Amino acid sequence: MNSLQHAVNRRRLFTAFGSTLALCGFRSDVIERLSLPRGQEPPPTLKPKSRQILDNLVHSSDFSGAIPAGAVEVLSRSEATSVPDLMIRLLALARTYSHAPISNYHVGAVTRGLSGSVYLGMNIEIPHHSLGFSVHGEQAALSNAYMHGENGVAAIAVTAAPCGHCRQFMNEMSPAGEIDILVQARAPLKLSSLLPMAFGPHDLGFQYGAFPVRTRKLALPARPEDELVRAAHDAAEHAYAPYSRSASGVAVRTKTGRIYKGSYLENAAFNPSLSPLQTALVQLILAGEDYAAISQTVLVEIKDAKISQASVTAAVLNSIAPRVDLQTIPVEES
Ligand SMILES: [Zn+2]
Repeated sequence: MNSLQHAVNRRRLFTAFGSTLALCGFRSDVIERLSLPRGQEPPPTLKPKSRQILDNLVHSSDFSGAIPAGAVEVLSRSEATSVPDLMIRLLALARTYSHAPISNYHVGAVTRGLSGSVYLGMNIEIPHHSLGFSVHGEQAALSNAYMHGENGVAAIAVTAAPCGHCRQFMNEMSPAGEIDILVQARAPLKLSSLLPMAFGPHDLGFQYGAFPVRTRKLALPARPEDELVRAAHDAAEHAYAPYSRSASGVAVRTKTGRIYKGSYLENAAFNPSLSPLQTALVQLILAGEDYAAISQTVLVEIKDAKISQASVTAAVLNSIAPRVDLQTIPVEES
């Protein structure tokens, strides 16, 4: 069984029974405890009505890892609980998307945008490649909110306290440190209390962080009539690259015909930046697809910029979809 089938089965079990391994005959509380970070209590199992709503949502053909504000309200009422508590309960669903073949440590994250919609995220590890290309759960959830055009993020729930790398990444998404960090059975904390004396956009002379999503016009590439090229161009125009000014975007087409966009997301500390292929892979996995479905990939980036995503995109693509060529299109700033 491949990783996609594992993930899909985990998701089906979750939405059907509220536990990912319930069918194996174990008590659900024992199983959840086994699969959670040590010492963490399992979240309450979602009610059948809530699981039905989620089942319909995540298995719809256009699901993209977002739960719209209206559905969040319905779920919150169905669970008779607050939105922050609902976010904690949704972590088990987010974890079913985790691709962690190296660590087998499955992370789930759920962030709430200012619109009221919530966005799932999970960790992604790329086999046969540098660990530096891993995507952490918090990065996935926040990039998901970004790719949906949110104006900002108010809170993020995580299956375990965020690592230092993620605290730095979050600081770019909430430079004032206002975002609430929600971890089960602990009082909510502001990022500013988890990351005191933060280094961020202000230190490099910028007033704002990644949100709200902004557009930077780029010249049209050759063959702009190609839908995949247009998607990569659009992703590049929405990239957040204030430090290198090297905007880039990726578009991935799968055999189902769907197209997933990924914008480059930069960080003041450079290393926690997400490449456009990483943000596109988050979208692809949250839609329920897997690397084997990738049929075409396009990278659009600024010509002769200070940095390029071409080599790393090609290297990672070679690991996860070796028969798929990468088409790189340099464009001028307009
Ligand atoms: Zn992390």
